[in-house]
Order: sequence, then structure tokens, then C-alpha cells
Amino acid sequence: MMVGPIGTTLTLESKSPFDLRLDQSRAVPESAVKKALRTGDIGFIHSFTTGSTVDGPGVRVVGWTAGCQWRCLYCHNPDTWNMTNGMAVPLERAVDHLRKYRHGLKIMSGGFTLSGGEPLLQDRFAVKLFTAAKAMGIHTAVETNGFLGERITDEDLEQIDLVLLGIKTWGSAKHTRLTGKDIGPTLQFARRLAAHQKPVWIRFVLVPGLTDDAEHLVEIAKFAAGLGNVERVEVLPFHQMGRYKWERLGIDYELEGFEPPTNALQDWARGLFRAEGLKAY
Ligand code: SF4
Repeated sequence: MMVGPIGTTLTLESKSPFDLRLDQSRAVPESAVKKALRTGDIGFIHSFTTGSTVDGPGVRVVGWTAGCQWRCLYCHNPDTWNMTNGMAVPLERAVDHLRKYRHGLKIMSGGFTLSGGEPLLQDRFAVKLFTAAKAMGIHTAVETNGFLGERITDEDLEQIDLVLLGIKTWGSAKHTRLTGKDIGPTLQFARRLAAHQKPVWIRFVLVPGLTDDAEHLVEIAKFAAGLGNVERVEVLPFHQMGRYKWERLGIDYELEGFEPPTNALQDWARGLFRAEGLKAY
């Protein structure tokens, strides 16, 4: 437990990232936020969860950062868009948290994943935390949309064992419509990771009627296969578990009537990636 800057008693751990957490560091002065972003000595974190088997290899501790500059129509954690919804967590506190799990993570061939939100919005904190994790012998992974990849230096990259890179769709107009941002920087980061032969898992959210355009899926598959460093592609079925957050936050939700993909549609999408020689799950 720790006491938050607005006087509430907060737990660092959450059972699920689907917990709605709001305004946890609203009272932190803007100057302190800017300093934290510059130094990386404090991170803004929605929560930590343990025991994940879907956020990288083995069993993982996952840190869910707050703050994202994208606005994906299917985002299931819109409470992580705003950095001040996260707890202001000193770096040492986060490192201490990881230290508790270091032996177990090694035994379970797992590690630590920083997700979000968008972790690279807090790039200095992310790199410092990864550096500390690796010093403890913990495997490190970042789940990112890649938009801010240029903030990560080549030296920083050495602290990251695996990148879980979200590619949301293909084509500039469609990408901007889906996420609010251009796809260019993500693809640029993907190419840079390939040049460094950094292991990458591509994550793609399949939404029937929104991201199941065959032509675009084939383009993503060809691009991923051409990189040479993509170890696997994960086709993630869209779900409605985050819908209540949009409602609680009063944000218009455009995917009200959208259904999760059938198993057949998921198999079809995975098949398109496999046809390009990729491992798809
Ligand atoms: S990049 Fe991730 S956290 Fe950001 S809006 Fe999209 S789905 Fe949500």
C-alpha cells in the first residue's frame, strides 16, 4: 500500500488492468510531472499485475503505465489515456516491487512487461526500470504502439529483450481513423528494430467489420515477414470488456454493436500471416 498525493490509500497491485482507476495523481503539480518525465525518477502507473501468461514469454509481472496519445476506437483501457489517472510511483518503489518476484519469474521462464497506456510516453522511467530489471536478471519486454520509438536510443534498446509491437491496421487514412495518429512512425520503429535484430512479437487486434480487411491484413503480413526479426504474430480477438470504462468516462464509444470475431475468422486471419511464413497465434 502507498499513500497517493491526493490522500487516498492506493494499492500498487491490481487483480486486473480492467479495474477503473482515475485521478490518482491529479494533485501532482505540472512542474513535478515534467520533471518526472525528464528524469524518469517517478512513473505514472495504473497498476501492476502478476501471473500474466499472455504478455510475453512465460509468466510475467506487468506494469500498466498511464498516458497514451492515441485514441484507438477499440481501446479497452481508456482510463490509461490520461497520465494523471495513474499513481505517481517512485522508481525505487517499482524496482522493489519487481525484486519480490525475481526468483519466481526466473523459475517460470517469465519476466517483466511494461504495457499501458503507452509506456514510451514515459521513456526515461521505462528505460530506468528495464535497466534495474535486467540487473536483477529479469527478462524485459515492452508493449508499445511504436509511435515514440525514436525516443529510445540504441543503448536503451539493449535493456529491452523483446518488443510487443502493436500494428493496428494498414494504410494511412484507415490508421488515422482507427487510432487518431499516423502509421508512419510505428513502421519506422519496426524497421529500426529489424536493423538491430531485436526480437519482436506483432500484436494485431481483430475486429470484425473494422480491421478484418483481407487486403490490409496481407499488407501487414508481408511487411512483418519482410522484417526478419518477427518471432510471432498474435491475433487478439476484440472484446467488449472495456466498454464500461468508456461509459463511466463519458466518452463516445463507436463500437457499441461490434461483435468479437468468431473462431473461424481468427483462424482465417492467422492463416494470412502463416501464408507469409510467420508463426501466428
Ligand atoms: S495505443 Fe493502446 S492504450 Fe493507446 S489508445 Fe490504443 S489501445 Fe489504447
